Amino acid sequence: MTVNLLDYDAAGLTAWFAEQGEKPFRAKQVLRWVHRSGVADFNAMTDLAKSLRDKLLQRAVVAPPAVVSDKISDDGTRKFLIDVGNGNAVESVFIPEDERGTLCISTQAGCALDCAFCSTGKQGFNRNLTVGEIIGQLWQANKALGAVHGNERVISNVVLMGMGEPLANYENTVTALHLMLDDNAYGLSRRRVTVSTSGLVPVIDRLREDCPVALAVSLHAPNDALRDQLVPINQKYPLQQLLAACQRYLTKAPRDFITFEYTMLAGVNDSDAQARELLALVRDVPCKFNLIPFNPFPGSPFRRSPADRVRRFGEILLQGGIVTTTRKTRGDDIDAACGQLAGQVQDKTRRRLERIIPVQESSE
Ligand code: SAH
Ligand code: SF4
Repeated sequence: MTVNLLDYDAAGLTAWFAEQGEKPFRAKQVLRWVHRSGVADFNAMTDLAKSLRDKLLQRAVVAPPAVVSDKISDDGTRKFLIDVGNGNAVESVFIPEDERGTLCISTQAGCALDCAFCSTGKQGFNRNLTVGEIIGQLWQANKALGAVHGNERVISNVVLMGMGEPLANYENTVTALHLMLDDNAYGLSRRRVTVSTSGLVPVIDRLREDCPVALAVSLHAPNDALRDQLVPINQKYPLQQLLAACQRYLTKAPRDFITFEYTMLAGVNDSDAQARELLALVRDVPCKFNLIPFNPFPGSPFRRSPADRVRRFGEILLQGGIVTTTRKTRGDDIDAACGQLAGQVQDKTRRRLERIIPVQESSE
């Protein structure tokens, strides 16, 4: 059977090489060729013995998912549409800034969690991405950005904030995280890799033990009554449980705060009173807030909060002692802004959430 080497982290690749009768250091060499140098052709891996190259040619491939479109926004944001087969496509977005370059990647084709204001959620869920499809987004972006020869680091940060819920595709996400952090692959520091979750409490605990990276939690509401409606997984893991998991996470996290994401929806979650309620809610959790002006998409009933409302809401949080930033809407001329990533997904869920999320108990 031919394997895709992009599906393996260092441990997996070493084990596979052992099965082929090869020494562990060969795995390390190949990892560096594939991820640091962006080489997919075994014949170009010049420091491998010819016999090993022949073996690899017979038994393995380096097969990233194909980039089917690559659009550049007026502000430099670049959106890649990635084909993951069977009519499904996901998106990744590169956001250049003065001090850093951030790649936002997807972890699932669609998403089962059905948050009220999210276009990915509205598409339903098709399937989890493989490790090769997750890390393949980084591989492809590096190549497109001309950063494959190890001499220039264009992508300094990775955020798992594209399509899908990373913690609902846990094993593959963690294996891909290992590659992002591995010095023989992408060599990013834990502080520069951020997992964003809508709040799968038991899986937050697993991540803390297995691979603690920076954590962003999608809050969006100051109380359970509203969050139940906006982020339905809250019905399973309400706010007090979520905030307790955040506190536990901080005991192992590479940063000493949790980032709370808060999508600003006009007339829904953006009042002064709600800002104050939020301050009381997160009182015991060291945190920063990132306010995200809602990005509209066709068929959505929500509107973006006006700029002065976002400013006022942020001021109240700041006065309450919480560092608060407002996310610049980048790339919206190419539909690359948060929550606008749609890709194209064949919905197989028909909203039967309990089948897809292992931690979800059936409530129907
Ligand atoms: N599933 C994960 C990560 C992907 S979503 C999560 O929910 O955290 C990344 C962020 O974009 C989340 O905070 C999400 O709530 C936000 N988002 C989704 N749709 C949006 C929209 N239409 N406008 C603005 N932000 C949105
Ligand atoms: Fe899924 Fe995140 Fe969108 Fe919710 S906001 S539907 S968890 S991708």
